[in-house]
Amino acid sequence: MGSAGVTAAQNSAVGEQAPGTSPSEVPPSPQGKSSTKKQASGRAAKQADARAVKQAPGRAAKQPKPESRLAMIRRARRINRELAEVYPYAHPELDFRNPFELLVATVLSAQTTDLRVNQTTPALFAAYPTPEAMAAAAPEDLEELIRPTGFFRAKSRSLLGLSQALCEKFGGEVPGRIEDLVTLPGVGRKTANVVLGNAFGVPGITVDTHFGRLVRRFKWTEQEDPEKVEEEICAIFPKSEWTMLSHRVVFHGRRICHARKPACGACPIAPLCPSYGEGETDPEKARKLLKYEKGGQPGQRLSPPADYPGLPAPPLGAPAP
Ligand code: SF4
Repeated sequence: MGSAGVTAAQNSAVGEQAPGTSPSEVPPSPQGKSSTKKQASGRAAKQADARAVKQAPGRAAKQPKPESRLAMIRRARRINRELAEVYPYAHPELDFRNPFELLVATVLSAQTTDLRVNQTTPALFAAYPTPEAMAAAAPEDLEELIRPTGFFRAKSRSLLGLSQALCEKFGGEVPGRIEDLVTLPGVGRKTANVVLGNAFGVPGITVDTHFGRLVRRFKWTEQEDPEKVEEEICAIFPKSEWTMLSHRVVFHGRRICHARKPACGACPIAPLCPSYGEGETDPEKARKLLKYEKGGQPGQRLSPPADYPGLPAPPLGAPAP
């Protein structure tokens, strides 16, 4: 379990101060959440005391203790609660109306953006609305419709294969069990968990590139293998949180904790993150890195949920807003 690099100071405050940062460097939440601010000022006093003790003459500097598993779990759950306040409208960013559409959209989302998939699926589902219709499609027609999502030959084979398997083995219905879903061509645990969590209400952790990156930055795990990441994160949170936790973490990864330039200086969970400082810490510069609704840009869904604070995405071929 990943605990290296998290200090005793974090342990004592349930991991609430990023290592190597001063309280003045910890940015206020963009949502203006007073709880985080209050805790930050409380921490400031504790840390000033700790520094005074450390600097007393004749005292040897102590090595920081690694974070205990219990402290890490408390910190992880606290991050989840904070993210729930920051992104109360977190949701799957693929447009879908039923389990079959979500399954197809998730297969298409490999190596491309959800936005590109959402721009592609309206025409696809107009032509092939059911597994039966898609199973009977001519491969070249299917390829042409899904071409904008990239890797269209391989994806077309997966869609034909999974539609045929749905018809032959599952009576034309998407099964609601992970053991069945992963037998479908092109469907792994990630896709299966997306479908189960969002179309069937069965809790699941979805480990995509954003989720894996963030949970490693949070030091919730050091695993790289998605299945091992899933197993370790499942052990930290109650089952009822799994699906929404996945959305919140992915929302945070897309909007603030970017792969190459995380906007640490504008991050509402900076006080809880051991990787604070990996990205831009200057609040002004960090704010300029924000995307999506926080930067006034449209989200990825053409039909976002009613409480979504940003703009719907434009359809394929529409001029940029
Ligand atoms: S943006 Fe920075 S502080 Fe925030 S979660 Fe990512 S690495 Fe941590």
